[in-house]
Amino acid sequence: MVQIDILGGKNEIGGNKILVEHEGTRIILDFGMSFNQNSKYFSEFLQPRKCSALTDFFELGLLPDIKGIYRTDYLEHMGRQPEEREIDAVLLTHAHADHAQYIHFLRFDVPILCTKETKIILQCLEETGSNTFSDYIKACEAFKFYRNTKGSFSRVTKKQQDFLHKRNFHLMEPEKKLKIGSLEIEMVPVDHSLPGACGYIIYTSEGNLVYTGDIRFHGSNRQLSRKFVEKAKSVNPRWLICEGTRIDKQEIDSEDRVKEEITRFISKARGLAFVEHPIRDLDRVKSIFESARTNGRYFVVPLKAAYLIESLGNLCPFCLDDVKILVPRKSWGLIYKEGYEQDLINKDYDSWEQNYIHRSNSITCKELRQNPLNYVVSMSLWEINQLVDIQPQNAIWIKSSCEPFCEEMELDEERKQNWLDRFKIVKYSAHASGHASGLELIKMINEIKPDSVIPVHTEKPDLFKQAEAKIIVY
Ligand SMILES: [Zn+2]
Ligand SMILES: [Zn+2]
Repeated sequence: MVQIDILGGKNEIGGNKILVEHEGTRIILDFGMSFNQNSKYFSEFLQPRKCSALTDFFELGLLPDIKGIYRTDYLEHMGRQPEEREIDAVLLTHAHADHAQYIHFLRFDVPILCTKETKIILQCLEETGSNTFSDYIKACEAFKFYRNTKGSFSRVTKKQQDFLHKRNFHLMEPEKKLKIGSLEIEMVPVDHSLPGACGYIIYTSEGNLVYTGDIRFHGSNRQLSRKFVEKAKSVNPRWLICEGTRIDKQEIDSEDRVKEEITRFISKARGLAFVEHPIRDLDRVKSIFESARTNGRYFVVPLKAAYLIESLGNLCPFCLDDVKILVPRKSWGLIYKEGYEQDLINKDYDSWEQNYIHRSNSITCKELRQNPLNYVVSMSLWEINQLVDIQPQNAIWIKSSCEPFCEEMELDEERKQNWLDRFKIVKYSAHASGHASGLELIKMINEIKPDSVIPVHTEKPDLFKQAEAKIIVY
């Protein structure tokens, strides 16, 4: 019997964790964080405690308390007995937090299946992020001591190589099936607002299961989602686990239209053009890059984006030398002062950042201030204080990201508007979602023709009843 258990992602957008069991083989599809559940109890300044290991997460329903999947160091710290591994693999569809963030808590020996891009993005998040729980690629044993050179005990950090473990990643390629216990797994790329997104087909002796992950049909990789539908249809699935973020929306978005709009806004700008966008959405980054180029301007990216572009290498549609890197003033702000040696300036930056601050294409806000018409600048609220250094005149701000969907985001939006008003910056917007519309989802289901559909990643599972299939709502 195939048993499907939705541990996270039912009646909510994200937090997907789906347990599939067949003849003793157990796999989990995605292992993401639930924004809903998390924001019910936590905020920026109230976070789950590391000292409680998994206890806060179990107590508040952020993680399911199941045996044989969690890291031994955390279990030990909670006073639990060591457990045998009871999971054969975790399959990630993409590196968005609501699908991948909680792999931090998994045992180090659990095979993690994903695409090459997903692993690279997770590595970037691990290296450049500020999250406490971010052992995505390399995991360091927590709550351990080692004997130091003086003979006494010190706490283990990531510097103690003996306590570092490389997670067991297996990179999936299209058309190549992987056998895991009684199951055969195939990765199928899809179009979404993050590079390397995919769905999965799980072949079993009792029928096949298809999982969409997050999917859309309007990005520049839309042919991938078309192929996914073809492939899914060809395996006559018994079950389709289908995302439904926008099942209640009829409008069909278009990334091409976003590019046209951004190009037009920039062409009319008489000063700097700022663009606010999801920094890792490479499809959007490409649209902005091309819009800037059409207008004879350089695209200026923040340090984190520079790190990602370089890490992706030829998986990115352009290279780091094609853009300018904006080096912000940090800590003592020595980069703006004359006569300091590189080594002294470097101390203002994290070690990963130091690689990007002295390049021939590195620029500072001074340059943006002097030659505003040469640039289109990637900017977010978290770096908006640089406007003080830039002192923009006649600038525009293009909001190319989703609308606020919670109170905290609304407050941030208000705060951002205050900055824009202060510097007399005119705001425009151009955005396309990472998700297919309801019309497209129903059309997809009717084309794939599964025996039954299991809606996930949606607040409106009942709307799936428009499709010609049996709907299983948990
Ligand atoms: Zn998602
Ligand atoms: Zn996503």
